[in-house]
Amino acid sequence: MNTEDIIALEKKYVMHTYGRQPLALSKGNGALVWDVDGKKYIDCFAGLAVNNVGHAHPKVVDAICNQAKKMLHCSNIYYTEEQVVLAKLLCEISSYDKVFLCNSGAEANEGAVKLARKYTKKGNVICMDNSFHGRTLAMVAATGQHKYKKGIEPIPQGFKHTPYGDVDAVAEKIDDNTAGVLVEPIQGEGGVVVPPKNYLKELKELCEDKDILFMVDEVQTGFGRTGNMFASEIFGVNADITTIAKGLGGGFPIGGILAREEIADAFEAGDHGTTFGGNPLACAAAKASIEAIMEENLTDNAKKQGKYFKDKLMQLKKKYGIIEDVRGYGLLIGMELNIKCGDIVNKVADKGVLINCTADKVLRFAPPLLIEKDQIDVTLDVLDEVLEKVS
Ligand SMILES: *Cc1c(COP(=O)(O)O)cnc(C)c1O
Repeated sequence: MNTEDIIALEKKYVMHTYGRQPLALSKGNGALVWDVDGKKYIDCFAGLAVNNVGHAHPKVVDAICNQAKKMLHCSNIYYTEEQVVLAKLLCEISSYDKVFLCNSGAEANEGAVKLARKYTKKGNVICMDNSFHGRTLAMVAATGQHKYKKGIEPIPQGFKHTPYGDVDAVAEKIDDNTAGVLVEPIQGEGGVVVPPKNYLKELKELCEDKDILFMVDEVQTGFGRTGNMFASEIFGVNADITTIAKGLGGGFPIGGILAREEIADAFEAGDHGTTFGGNPLACAAAKASIEAIMEENLTDNAKKQGKYFKDKLMQLKKKYGIIEDVRGYGLLIGMELNIKCGDIVNKVADKGVLINCTADKVLRFAPPLLIEKDQIDVTLDVLDEVLEKVS
């Protein structure tokens, strides 16, 4: 099938929940992808910050193929070596004590809120304006953006919102029924919004003071994306609970909740679960992906290439008045424009580079962490050409 055939079938048979680009992708390698018509692209989106180790990483491919020959799935009614090995590895790289494995970011956050309620015996979680925590009903409620809540009311209760970056506003919202705070270390979907330097530290101190839980959503920022294994490290905080997904499986769907022992133990047998979560195939993929990040020093490459990328984007800002701001850490970079950026994304794709537009006016760059300097240079040249035309 060519692109046109695929788009026609999608139109007929798939629910139209996505604003898609008119591209049908078929394969990838490293930081490159190809569409079904054979056109090559530099992938500066990485499946929304998921393909951190690049496409078709041999280590991840081998792990998946070898595991597929043994067993794809068995219920959580039984033990598997793959699950406990991944759990141990996750605890070691994050300095948490225990993990619950699930299938997605939204599911991880749902579980974190259940755990927080169970542990504290309190109902409310304070979230941030402009945040994004997923698409299940409760996570739409947690998400601080009205557009995701329209037309699906009633929205579940138990979430309050305060401006991102404002610790005093959180302090004012805390009451006797507050279980904790849930916050992204950098707001990805909200436009790669970086908080004030001391925000997370002060927020954590406030939570300790008030004896409520400090929960961090690292679904988008985790696994080397920001130049550290977790973005919390940049801000010097270690949350009571951290949620993970996206980059965890190197492209295979898997999510998780990380918690300190005392909190994790609030879940007893039967309290929480999932049929697929932590199945041997997903765990084998995630283990291989994390090992690849560590063995190939991809966090360092994210830091190094991210700095180069961001510096060059800053130079473009001097050249084009439509660029308002360039921000981010490692290879999670946002370029805010004073115009909507959907059209720019399409024009850049025509020239063979995939980028993304979020929060209407923010170009988001999130390539695989193994991207090379010359691929960034091509991306910058393409962006320069396109910005010149629209400015
Ligand atoms: C993508 C994302 C989610 C939701 O993850 P899904 O796997 O799509 O459910 C939650 N939180 C953050 C910060 C995200 O970026």
